[in-house]
Amino acid sequence: MILIVDDNPDNIYSLQKLLESKNFKVDTAQSGEEALKKILKYNYALIILDVQMPNMDGFEVAENIAGFSKTKETPIIFLSAVNTDKRFITKGYDSGGLDYVTKPVDPDILMLKVKTFYRLYEQTQALKDIQLALEKEVEGRKQAQKELRSKVDYLHTLLESLPQIAFTCDHRGNIGFVNGRWFQFSDNEQAFPQTHPDDKPIAAELQESLDSGKPLEMEVRVKKRDEPGYSYQLLRVWPILENGENNWVGTFTNIDAQKKAEKEKDEFLSIASHELKTPLTSIKAYMQLLDRKLKLDGDCAEAKYVNRVQDQVEKLNSLITDLLDLSKIDNGKLGINKKVFSLERMVQNAVDSIVQTHDQSKMELHRQGDISGLMVYGDEIRLEQVLVNFLTNAYKYAAGTEKVIVDCRVMDDFVKISVIDFGIGIPESKLSEVFNKFYRVEETSFDFQGLGIGLYICSEIIRSHQGTIAVESSAGKGATFYFTIPLNLPTDAK
Ligand code: ADP
Repeated sequence: MILIVDDNPDNIYSLQKLLESKNFKVDTAQSGEEALKKILKYNYALIILDVQMPNMDGFEVAENIAGFSKTKETPIIFLSAVNTDKRFITKGYDSGGLDYVTKPVDPDILMLKVKTFYRLYEQTQALKDIQLALEKEVEGRKQAQKELRSKVDYLHTLLESLPQIAFTCDHRGNIGFVNGRWFQFSDNEQAFPQTHPDDKPIAAELQESLDSGKPLEMEVRVKKRDEPGYSYQLLRVWPILENGENNWVGTFTNIDAQKKAEKEKDEFLSIASHELKTPLTSIKAYMQLLDRKLKLDGDCAEAKYVNRVQDQVEKLNSLITDLLDLSKIDNGKLGINKKVFSLERMVQNAVDSIVQTHDQSKMELHRQGDISGLMVYGDEIRLEQVLVNFLTNAYKYAAGTEKVIVDCRVMDDFVKISVIDFGIGIPESKLSEVFNKFYRVEETSFDFQGLGIGLYICSEIIRSHQGTIAVESSAGKGATFYFTIPLNLPTDAK
């Protein structure tokens, strides 16, 4: 907007019409005082200022304008009928004005000047806007940088306070930060601690994780700089997504004591089960002799007691066998003797042994599916052990229901054996854990006896047959445990 200041309304009128005809917005003031009030209140692109006005003349107004920071850069065109000599013109410029037009005003010249000033004003305005936006952006970036720095500081302090060795690295594996504990194991912040020669190298394992974007978790033995020997550490490296890129945070947690305790426990279990097995075998043998003797003597109450003792001895025997298997697995010595055998015979043997030992009038065992004539390659005794385990569990955890089903199905290139029961089932959240060592579903562990190792042994047996083992279940809805084994026989066995 342009402000015209003139004490003569006729002059104002003609100038206003002229400017408005060229599409300029115009405001007017009839005295210097009124002009100053308006200038302080509004923003003007240009002021056209009559020099000769009563009270406050144009130069005085211009001096005042130059004194306010808000207005000091507003261009002014002085209009005057007199004062055309150089002295007056200079006075005009000194007081902040930028140009000078003498009356009578030549409309073309005035318009030329107005347009020039107006364009200048617009350009200055645009520059100011750009400057403002830039300043804002710089401020924003400074703030973001500050926040980032404080976040990083926070993370570093956090990592420093951990009892573990901690570090961060970028998506290429370059280590960025290491905490103080790192230097107990490595003298270089770019080099991982020295690992045991039998363990997988950390850098290679980490690279695999960085490539796949998946967290790394591994047990590894590392060496302290000034101590002989290695200690077990659990290394976890976790991705943190930041600005679309993964950065990684890693920790080494000392699990040496836990590992030692585990080893001692495994050794104890191994020794204890071996020691228990010998007297138990003699008890079994003597009980069989006693049983035979009593049977020869005819029906008597003692024979029943002996049978019960034999049942309990059998239970004890299978517990000890499981413990022995467990220690064999821990030592990598679970013997698997594979040969080609009839799967139907194996399934029927398992079913028979369960039928003999479980009262069928209470809970019947049904079979589904035809696998007669199917030959598979594997350890018949161990696979029977898996099926017997599934069935024993079904009778245990579905006691009081009517039936258990053994379902055998030949799929594309594998065979699937399932045991379906309608008992207490397993909550879905626990399904992934039932094959873990010593795992027992908490909610039901008090109601049933067991060690939680049967399914772990089963999973190891199936793993060594390159098969799969799984369970489908939900709480209260029964359970379907199944395993599959591949059907490809070795070429020399076909
Ligand atoms: P155990 O039966 O000796 O505890 P297992 O390794 O055979 O050990 O089974 C592990 C756990 O899985 C059991 O403690 C039980 O909680 C659950 N489980 C196994 N079979 C079944 C089943 N058929 N129905 C419900 N829960 C089962």
